[in-house]
Amino acid sequence: MQFELLKTDAGCAARLGLLSTPRGDVETPTFMPVGTQATVKSATPEQVAESGARILLANAYHLHLRPGEEIVAAQGGLHRFMNWPHPIITDSGGYQVFSLPNVQVDDAGVRFRMEKGGQPVELTPEKAIAIQQKLGADVMMAFDECVSYPAPYEAAKTAMERTVDWARRCRESWTNPEQALFGIVQGSTYPDLRRECAERIAELELSGIAVGGLSVGEGLDTMREVLAFTVPHLPEDRPRYLMGVGLPEDILAAVELGIDMSDCVIPTKYARTGVIFTQVGRLRVMNNDYRKDRFPPDTACRCYTCENYTRAYLHHLFHAGEIFGQTLATIHNIAFYMNLMADIRQAIRGDRFPAFKAEFLERYLREGKKRRRVG
Ligand SMILES: [Zn+2]
Repeated sequence: MQFELLKTDAGCAARLGLLSTPRGDVETPTFMPVGTQATVKSATPEQVAESGARILLANAYHLHLRPGEEIVAAQGGLHRFMNWPHPIITDSGGYQVFSLPNVQVDDAGVRFRMEKGGQPVELTPEKAIAIQQKLGADVMMAFDECVSYPAPYEAAKTAMERTVDWARRCRESWTNPEQALFGIVQGSTYPDLRRECAERIAELELSGIAVGGLSVGEGLDTMREVLAFTVPHLPEDRPRYLMGVGLPEDILAAVELGIDMSDCVIPTKYARTGVIFTQVGRLRVMNNDYRKDRFPPDTACRCYTCENYTRAYLHHLFHAGEIFGQTLATIHNIAFYMNLMADIRQAIRGDRFPAFKAEFLERYLREGKKRRRVG
C-alpha cells in the first residue's frame, strides 16, 4: 500500500491524498462504511459500491468468533467470501473486547468469555495479526487497549504503554507485505500520553496511524481538542485514520485538523431506523409530515433511491415494516456520506475547505433545527 499526500489546504490542516492498494485506489479524505459481519447490513456489495464507497471496514474479532478465519480463508478469503472486490480494512477487535464485561487484561493479551456459549477466548497481538492475515484484509489494525471515557491518568498511561508494546509485537508477527498494518494511538484525553504514544508508534514505521479511543462519549468539543494536540505528532507521510467517527459535523472537524480516513456505523445504522441524511439536516421519514410528500428523500442527491422513490414511499415502507425501506435508506445514506467526502476533497483541491465547512454546516444545522422544532 502506498500513500501519496497530494496537497494541504492553504487555510487549515485538511489534506488531499491518494491511497493505492493492490485492489484499487482510494482518494482521501475518505469515509468507510462498516461491514462488521462481512456485510454492510441490508445492502448488496453492488449497491454499496454504486453509492460511491471504495473501501469497507470489517471486524476481525467478530469474524474470528463466527464463522472463524479458517472458514473464510478456505472460501478464498474475505473479499471472495463477501463478494467485495475493493479494499477492506479489518479492525483487530480491541475496541469490542474492552467493552465486554469481565475481561481479564495483562501484558500478554486479553481473556474473556463469549457472550453466547461461554467458551473462553484469548486474544493477543500475535493472534490478532494471524486472524487478519488469514482473512486477507488489505489493511490490518494493530491490537490495542482502548480505555473508556473518562479514564484516570494512571489507567490511561498503562493502556498507552501496552498499546505501544502490542503494536511492536503486531509488527513482528506481520509477514505478508501485500497487507498493510496501521498502528493505533491511545492516551485518552491527556496531551502528554497522546504525544508520547504518537511518537513511539511513528518509530515503528507502520503503513499508517490511527487515532483510537475517541467517539467514546467525550463529545465533539473534547474530540476536537484531543485531535488538535495529537495530529501534529503524527507523521506527515502516512495516512491518518480516526476510528469510529461519526456524524457529518464530526467528520468535517476531523478533516480540518488533518485526518484522512474515518469509519462509522452511523449512516447505515440510522438508515435502518428511517433517519435520512440530507443537505438540510436529518429527516425522520416515519414522521407524518412525509406521508404524502412527493419529493425524493434528498432533493440534492442523485443516488438510486433519490432518483426513483419519494419520501411518501419510504414513509410507507417503514410503517409497513418492509425491509426494502432499510435498503433504500442505506443506499441513500452511504451516497450522502460519499458525496460529502467528494465535496470535501473538491474544496481542499481549491484551497477553500474552511469556507466549504462553514457553508455546509450553516445549511445543514440551521434547517435541521427548524425541522426538529416542527417535527
Ligand atoms: Zn440519495
